[in-house]
Amino acid sequence: MFRTHTCGELRINHINQEVTLAGWVQTIRKFGSITFVDLRDRYGITQLLFGEDLNTQLENNPLGREFVLQVKGIVAERSNKNKNIATGEIEINIQSFQILNKSAVPPFTIQDDTDGGDDLRMKYRFLDLRRNAVKKNLELRYAVNRSVRNYLHEKGFMDIETPFLIKSTPEGARDFVVPSRMNPGQFYALPQSPQTFKQLLMVSGYDRYFQIVKCFRDEDLRADRQPEFTQIDCEMCFVEQEDILQMFESMIKQVFKDVKNIDYTDSVERMTWQEAMWNFGNDKPDIRFGMKLTNLKFPAHTFPTKKDISSLIASDFAVFNDAETVVAIAVPGCSEYSRKQTNELVEWAKRPQIGMKGLAFIKCNTDGTYKSTIDKFFTEEQLKAIAQTCNAQTGDLIILVAGPEERTRKATSELRLEMGKRLGFRKDDEFKLLWVLDFPLFEYAEEDNRWVARHHPFTAPKPSDIDIMINNNPVIENPAEYLKHPYANIKANAYDMVLNGNEIGGGSIRIYQKELQQKMFAALGMDAEEQQHKFGFLLGAFEYGAPPHGGIAFGFDRLCSILGGSESIRDFIAFPKNNSGRDVMIDAPSEIDAKQFDELQIKLNLK
Ligand code: ASP
Repeated sequence: MFRTHTCGELRINHINQEVTLAGWVQTIRKFGSITFVDLRDRYGITQLLFGEDLNTQLENNPLGREFVLQVKGIVAERSNKNKNIATGEIEINIQSFQILNKSAVPPFTIQDDTDGGDDLRMKYRFLDLRRNAVKKNLELRYAVNRSVRNYLHEKGFMDIETPFLIKSTPEGARDFVVPSRMNPGQFYALPQSPQTFKQLLMVSGYDRYFQIVKCFRDEDLRADRQPEFTQIDCEMCFVEQEDILQMFESMIKQVFKDVKNIDYTDSVERMTWQEAMWNFGNDKPDIRFGMKLTNLKFPAHTFPTKKDISSLIASDFAVFNDAETVVAIAVPGCSEYSRKQTNELVEWAKRPQIGMKGLAFIKCNTDGTYKSTIDKFFTEEQLKAIAQTCNAQTGDLIILVAGPEERTRKATSELRLEMGKRLGFRKDDEFKLLWVLDFPLFEYAEEDNRWVARHHPFTAPKPSDIDIMINNNPVIENPAEYLKHPYANIKANAYDMVLNGNEIGGGSIRIYQKELQQKMFAALGMDAEEQQHKFGFLLGAFEYGAPPHGGIAFGFDRLCSILGGSESIRDFIAFPKNNSGRDVMIDAPSEIDAKQFDELQIKLNLK
């Protein structure tokens, strides 16, 4: 037998047993005539003791770090016990050993706190994966995978594979394309998601589908994106939005239970997209803490149902007067911030990522007075009125942000998150789920003066808005007033699941009627010919009894990283790409042979 036990298995009750272990040499420590070796495998570390009798053999066959070793010996109680590891009470008195394979000196230490930098660890990812910290992440990933599969299996979902070589129909991100040798001049695309296939499966009657599946998007890699990533992709037929919300919030709760042993018994909060933007400046708010935005001034068309309270900040202060939007947040307990601290926040807000010109502050002092950087323009009474509107308490620091609507709202949202982090309101071990509902169906694309689908072109409008879509011409006559176009107000039957400020899943009820789908494509600027060329298969399928259906997809990598308390999805992917989309271990992408180009009948035209 190659091994009788793993390196994580032996305990005090195994004493005096003869065992055989195999694993990698983690450390070697020589004390006079005896040698201690820590032997590691996936399951743990076991201490080996090589006595004097093995010295000659060790001298002739010296061990090194990461050597692959097989040992035979007797389990003994350790005199010097190590409470930090599961096998810490025992060691193995080695009788014989065999070096199964040697190792070059590893380029970094294979330990929790390694000395290897990011690049080096990526180049030698197969060694990095031996580290406990990385292994724990992959174990968590597998636990999430199992939990999801079990749950969906119990609920009658069927895992059905869909193809990776598909048709290029870019809408949203850019496709990765693959040339077809057998069809010269023609290309496949790698799927951005199995969206149309899962819908076709609904037409075929597989009413509960899922797949844990790779998706590919050729996007510029913003922080922590991967060109290939994994989705938990699901679709159901004969459902309404409510059915989907229930089914999948239970799934995530089950994952919390299975993976983190957390009983998430609270019902999942729900919020409309409008409310999320209004209260948090963001469509994926972190609701682990409050600090909501107070909208002192805003463009009327953006939030048509909200009351105008801009008179509250009427003064000679040009910054507010000239601004489209003025938003405030009351930061608890920070009224005693020094000049240096507020200046630092101003500098933070001026960084290009945030892009604000400055910040104004009102300190709600504990003695009941109000002090502000804009004292010159506002009486104390006015400051007090603003503070009350912001629901500020004594001891709070109100931060006011002014500028163009979109940028100001986004900046305030970032500021809220930053202050939440600094004040310790965003704890790794607290999980708060949220559904964001009622997204706009369309977004305005300024460069082409047309509508684009906010989610994707298969998302259905809210039933009450279908008529608006059918009865209006999508053409935008006056770009400056696009918000007045009836299409700007159409709501989507779409939903996003948000966890601690991250969008972890999103989906929608789909269009299943051919005419409405054609109308949708037309609204996005596709004429009949283009519709036929790109989506003829789907429109065709909708002629053969397509059932009402809807679905959702979760970002599997992101879900794992949040559950693992990490900001980086890379830590949860066995072989990730770096920020330039490269796999530095296998050195991909790379050039291909002239012969391959020849076979594909492709000529390079590098610019
Ligand atoms: N396919 C969609 C996406 O990848 C998710 C869905 O609508 O189910 O975003």
